[in-house]
Amino acid sequence: MCLNCFLDDSFQNSLKQSSRSDRFETTMEVYRDRFLSELDGLSNAATCDHIPNEIRTDIAPWIDCFLDTVRHIGPIKLIFDTLIGAFRLYVDGRPTRALEQARNIVKKHPPVQELKLDDIGLVFRGRPIDNKTAPINSEFFYHLPFNKRFYVSNQRFSISGIPILYLSRSLLGVKWELSGAKDIAYAAFRLAPYHLPSPSKVPQLYDLSNAVHRLINHVFINFAKRKIGIPNCNDLNFQPNINTFPALFHRFIISQMCTFRRDPLRAGPFVEEYLLAQLLTEAIKEEDYAGILFPSTRYWENANCSNDLARRDFPDNLALFTKYHHSTNFDDSILSLYDIKVLAIPPPKREWDAEVISNQIDSGVAEIWKRKAGYPQKLSSSVNIIHSQLATVQCDGHPYFESELGQMELEAEFDYLNFLLA
Ligand SMILES: [Zn+2]
Repeated sequence: MCLNCFLDDSFQNSLKQSSRSDRFETTMEVYRDRFLSELDGLSNAATCDHIPNEIRTDIAPWIDCFLDTVRHIGPIKLIFDTLIGAFRLYVDGRPTRALEQARNIVKKHPPVQELKLDDIGLVFRGRPIDNKTAPINSEFFYHLPFNKRFYVSNQRFSISGIPILYLSRSLLGVKWELSGAKDIAYAAFRLAPYHLPSPSKVPQLYDLSNAVHRLINHVFINFAKRKIGIPNCNDLNFQPNINTFPALFHRFIISQMCTFRRDPLRAGPFVEEYLLAQLLTEAIKEEDYAGILFPSTRYWENANCSNDLARRDFPDNLALFTKYHHSTNFDDSILSLYDIKVLAIPPPKREWDAEVISNQIDSGVAEIWKRKAGYPQKLSSSVNIIHSQLATVQCDGHPYFESELGQMELEAEFDYLNFLLA
């Protein structure tokens, strides 16, 4: 195996699943040891079947350079042990010290590249509905109000009693997260340029997505196919480079440790798999981040969709923190940044097919780049990334954009671009 295959979330997931032990601290230790031994046995990327043959020699040197830079066992073991140590402190009844340790981890691992709220323009939210559901308006999609905090259970990036706003980069992601629900209502959360503060004041996000794997499998494969060339790993003008590889790889380890799937056989009020993510969330909040971008752990259950989903951005979820308010029941500081639009099911009938509306979306983005500067450009680019990734996804043997949900997503993208153009 090469580093590219090792970095794949689905490989890491199987490594984690096979490390399951009676206690979660042991699970994490077994995973650490398997991670290290797999890493030690990785071979040259020039032999990798997952990179198209004709461009393999273009990309392999970068991947091998990354591997040579990060494969030193000492720092890797240290980060695993610090994370496992934080977990142990908590289950040993020492939550304050556990949190202190989590804070050290967050402080020691600042982002390699800044991720801000306006890097993601359009996100989606869904809620299960039944025939007793209150009117489905934009308020229905707010976070749970502070006076109903008794409904807030433990989640991966939030603790019981503290409401959080969970969003997804695509409707497909929302559907997966709510896979137990029979009926779901959906809304688009559209970041409104005129509600955003000046660029330097836009809140930062803590990025736990699988950035290196995406860089190789999206950006570099595209570069190579279009003969643009792959940057040299020593090129300090390109980010990431040899100086930032270790930081990026440590981020990858933190992300993996936060995304163990919940064991359905051990379902109870306390979720061991969430604890580390919850401790880090508390530390991340204290460092003034507005939220966390993280990969969904649900898409492996959705084998009926194309299997290279882990290489894309759209399965990512966004958890936005809410700020307590002593008199209002909602955190207006975060909600007011978004224009919330309830999505019609099914979407309004159009005469165009998926390909026509996809072309309209492409020209919408081009139009924004021609006519509008600043936020609209940045926000439209983020829509374009997700759109182009979803364009090739097949679910149940059909293109996603031809399904009802896909049509709703297309409509929402198209609508958002018009909103940005207005
Ligand atoms: Zn490979």
